[in-house]
Amino acid sequence: EATIEVRALRKTYGPTVAVDDLSFTVAPGQVTGFVGPNGAGKSTTMRMIMGLDRPDGGSALIGGKPYRSLRAPLCRIGAMLDASAVHPARRARDHLRWLAQANGLPARRVDEVIDLAGLASAAGRRAGGFSLGMRQRLGIAAALLGDPPVLMFDEPVNGLDPEGITWIRALLRSLAAEGRAVLMSSHLMSELEGGADHLVVIGRGRLIADTAVGELLKAA
Ligand code: ADP
Ligand code: ADP
Repeated sequence: EATIEVRALRKTYGPTVAVDDLSFTVAPGQVTGFVGPNGAGKSTTMRMIMGLDRPDGGSALIGGKPYRSLRAPLCRIGAMLDASAVHPARRARDHLRWLAQANGLPARRVDEVIDLAGLASAAGRRAGGFSLGMRQRLGIAAALLGDPPVLMFDEPVNGLDPEGITWIRALLRSLAAEGRAVLMSSHLMSELEGGADHLVVIGRGRLIADTAVGELLKAA
């Protein structure tokens, strides 16, 4: 199933408890907003989901399996965690071609994701000259390459202009409408207004709220 399941996840850095007994599920067919102030533990949680950081306790599963045991991981989960991860000398299209090739994905996907991410006019340019917003689009294109049922974006709205924010909202909505599980983090609740179906709110690594947006509006 297209889900992310986080169970009793825990991560400490020395005396800092970055993620503290955190449990939540990201359901298919929805955009789930992952909200909390800077330092709340969102990126650490997402890194652990992607197997980039080792939990001190608990587990994070993608379709029932840890990231590191996934076969064809790009076809299981696509993530944009750090928009500056691309080598500055690489041209956007070449980066995507390399990623596709390294993961055994068809070359035609490169042009498809360039279109999906709105990168057509910049695809031949070097990533080093990209604005943050363009780097976000490149990260989103990379995440979509394997056409995965689960998607995760860390602060994708950062560095985008209002038009870009409207665009990304529509993109995430359409990805969820296709039945995908979509997790998007933000340190601003307002960025998720009208964009998320479900909210997972954390503070100091701990769960504060896990609720459907519809329920929240009824209670207000
Ligand atoms: P968020 O993504 O919500 O802003 P982070 O997951 O980046 O939060 O950080 C959670 C906490 O863990 C913060 O106190 C942060 O300073 C700390 N932290 C994150 N990564 C590291 C690291 N590599 N080394 C030490 N502390 C870290
Ligand atoms: P490099 O540092 O060589 O560019 P990465 O750090 O980007 O490689 O990739 C490390 C691992 O993460 C690889 O196994 C790759 O399949 C996976 N990966 C890279 N980008 C993505 C993405 N956007 N979505 C999902 N997995 C990714």
